[in-house]
Amino acid sequence: MKINKKRGFTLLELMIVIAIISILAVVLIPNFVNARNVAKLTACQAILKNISSAVEIYSSNNQERYPANDFTVTLSGNPLEEYIGKDYRCPVAKEYYEYKSSNNGSSYYIYCPTYNTSIKHKNNRGTVSKVFFSPQEGVVINY
Ligand SMILES: [Zn+2]
Repeated sequence: MKINKKRGFTLLELMIVIAIISILAVVLIPNFVNARNVAKLTACQAILKNISSAVEIYSSNNQERYPANDFTVTLSGNPLEEYIGKDYRCPVAKEYYEYKSSNNGSSYYIYCPTYNTSIKHKNNRGTVSKVFFSPQEGVVINY
């Protein structure tokens, strides 16, 4: 009669498998984290541009003037309420963007809320101190 002798893995085989998995994890996990951070910064820049489009439509309906006061860009209760169709929040800070008037309504800035929180955007160049939009400069990223 044939005896089926079951044989498991040796300790050495298991240790080699665990070592290979650990090396892969060490190499791949930071890349995944960085890809997510870059995607969030790109999404934030896209939101800044969408809000700036709303500001431009506002100005074309208001004698080419931009809103002359500072406010948080929420869905209602601010000059852009008719022009903002979405609940725009920064994907990192999860808070609303800030509109800041400049030169009495002849220009403006839109700030990502991370400029005054401890939560910051990051990408492969490092930690981003602030992200904002102005009609003169477009989207600006400061490190
Ligand atoms: Zn942001």
